Amino acid sequence: MSAAVLRVDDVWKSFGDDVVLRGVDLDVSPGEVVALIGASGSGKSTLLRTINLLEPIDDGQIWLRDLDVSDPRVDADAVRARIGVVFQQYNLFPHLTARQNIALALRHVHGWPKARAGAEALSALARVGLEDKADEHPDRLSGGQQQRVALARAVVSAPELLLLDEITSALDPELVGEVLELVRALADDGATIVMATHEMAFARDVADRVVFLDGGRVVEEGPPARFFGRPREERTRAFLARFS
Ligand code: ADP
Ligand code: MG
Repeated sequence: MSAAVLRVDDVWKSFGDDVVLRGVDLDVSPGEVVALIGASGSGKSTLLRTINLLEPIDDGQIWLRDLDVSDPRVDADAVRARIGVVFQQYNLFPHLTARQNIALALRHVHGWPKARAGAEALSALARVGLEDKADEHPDRLSGGQQQRVALARAVVSAPELLLLDEITSALDPELVGEVLELVRALADDGATIVMATHEMAFARDVADRVVFLDGGRVVEEGPPARFFGRPREERTRAFLARFS
């Protein structure tokens, strides 16, 4: 039996009086792809941000393999170096080229020497089909290309866990496919992924498990075929009805 990559155990989080996560549990196995779905405001981003230590939690525990990352004494930078993250937008530094964006992470987060970071950044861009854009700044790239660079940067150092927060939501529809294809390729390569998404067809196709969050609680979860084919909870059915 292989241990979980991620274990979220009864996590609670409030903003003022607003209780946003209400005892969330989530275990993710090596190589598993989990699609996190739910209405806007259900707590998806907050959950991802607590895992990446961008938000402190009020109660519960979060484990990255055998490290309790919710322990206040933990080295947050060391934890983040083990996790790749891509957000909805504004992922890249505008004043740096595609290659520099990736190299910067390798140098500063992972402490690689400049030459090695630059070379590795170039091969990371080649893997996402953007080698020819290495010296372009983000404003010269399409939104889809920018997200592909952001994905290349997120996975360049082979993180143990990849967190994707609605990474296609800000894209024009014709650019969504190229980004999702890249996520699919990463999943096929064995990446361990937790992705918040509104792309139900993609979740059904690529995820190993779908987790439905409503009001900061996991209301229902299951393998995509069962989850989408025979949702058990009324709230799940009401949510899914919006997409059909
Ligand atoms: P989702 O990603 O599912 O749309 P979020 O996690 O972004 O949901 O938000 C969940 C709830 O937490 C919302 O009510 C949102 O307004 C609130 N929230 C999120 N971040 C903050 C914050 N930094 N300060 C106050 N409230 C927040
Ligand atoms: Mg969100």
